[in-house]
Amino acid sequence: MSLAEVWGVVPAGISGVMVKVEVDVARGLPSVGVVGLAHTSVAEARWRARSAIVNSGFTWPNSRITIGLSPADLPKTGTSLDLPIAVGLLAATSQIAKLGSNVSFIGELGLDGAIKPVPGVLAAAISAQRHGVSTFIVSAGNSREAREVEGLEVIAVTNLRQLIAVLRNEDAGEEVDQFPAMIDDANALGDFSEVRGHDVARFALEVAAAGGHHCSLLGEPGVGKTMLAQRFVSLLPELNQQQALDVTSVHALAGRIESGHGLLRRPPFIAPHHSISAGAMLGSVRNGVLLPGALTLASEGVLFLDEAPEFDRPCLEGMRQPLEQGSLALMRVGQTVIAPARFQLILAANPCPCGQAIGRGDGCTCGAQQKRRYLQKLSGPLMDRIDIRISLTRPTDAHLRMSAGESSDVIAQRVLLARDRAHVRWTNESWNLNAQAPGSVLRSSYPPDAAGQGLLERAESRGLNPRGSDRVLRMAWTLADLEAQDQPNNDHVATALSMRGGGFE
Ligand SMILES: [Zn+2]
Repeated sequence: MSLAEVWGVVPAGISGVMVKVEVDVARGLPSVGVVGLAHTSVAEARWRARSAIVNSGFTWPNSRITIGLSPADLPKTGTSLDLPIAVGLLAATSQIAKLGSNVSFIGELGLDGAIKPVPGVLAAAISAQRHGVSTFIVSAGNSREAREVEGLEVIAVTNLRQLIAVLRNEDAGEEVDQFPAMIDDANALGDFSEVRGHDVARFALEVAAAGGHHCSLLGEPGVGKTMLAQRFVSLLPELNQQQALDVTSVHALAGRIESGHGLLRRPPFIAPHHSISAGAMLGSVRNGVLLPGALTLASEGVLFLDEAPEFDRPCLEGMRQPLEQGSLALMRVGQTVIAPARFQLILAANPCPCGQAIGRGDGCTCGAQQKRRYLQKLSGPLMDRIDIRISLTRPTDAHLRMSAGESSDVIAQRVLLARDRAHVRWTNESWNLNAQAPGSVLRSSYPPDAAGQGLLERAESRGLNPRGSDRVLRMAWTLADLEAQDQPNNDHVATALSMRGGGFE
């Protein structure tokens, strides 16, 4: 008889994968086969589609029906292909006209023909739009999130009858309100105006925000590390549209926000407890669907590890790849899912297991070896990525009596201007933050002025290693950007040198 092709989308990792559904209706004994690595939930789609079609007043043929799903090697789960399978059958039997590849469907079918929402529609809509889909047909319950994607015409339907009327140009689909503006409370994590004292840390975090530098804070318990880290997010610029879509789909996938919630516009702040398992830290893959871990939830935002040496080694080791590549490969049998993990790391640690070894360290009861082992857990590849390392001291009574410091808004303005200068400088490069600039490029093409270079070389001759030197250069550029200077000078290099020790070396 006839063959029809329809495009659907299934969740795969953080995004969606376009799936071509081919429905072949042929003479022969009545049967319905599904080919192409379909999980039980997808194989059962044929029965949901048959009931929905019959109960909506259309015809299910008494023929040999074969439903092919490709790419064949992609495991397919869930109910999101119900809709394209039913549409394919209707097209193969000429009950509706055939469709082009610019139209795609996602939705679960009830036996009565109702079209129900499925999880992961925002990510699926983004993928569909990137693959050239211009018309995306979804359940009314999913339409708000899909409508966030620019350049995609979204048609919302509530049942199969209405869908067919839409495809026959007899119905326009459901009216849907635009998304309500997103309520994410930028002030929920506090403002820098509430911070008394801590001048060094305030400045270090301003530099970290301006250059995208990872940062470590060393200090005794209760000195204010968490309070400072939480406020760090308020210095970062809003997410752009692309980042907002990516962050929102990850957080929706993790069930942290409800479907229909607006776009997340502020960088996320993720602060896992040190007892977190490696699975929860890195994420996992179940039935081809990514369950994002803390590293992925923090993507485009801030990952704060308090008491960092207390985290299990696999959690700390698992951060190496994200810190280098901005992503994380999660492997499962026959399948690798790449999860985004481009976060800014703020790491906090006590100076020693008992927490008292700061300043003269009179109260510390730890042995020398115990102390070394404690901070060594963070050494090597992880600390190599951390440009800014500072020690915090407890504010004195005089500090606490001082009037409030600058507000986050004021600092964030300077951060934005500094980032703009860096963006202009790196226009033709593959990075746009100073922290991402390779040391070799900085050394060869972006040195500080003569005095700054002299100071850097003297530090090198006194034992500053090449990686340490790269970190100083990256920071010096950010300090120059914050002062609207065209090249780092002696002061910038000196300040950068002072901000890279912090008790770890
Ligand atoms: Zn101690």
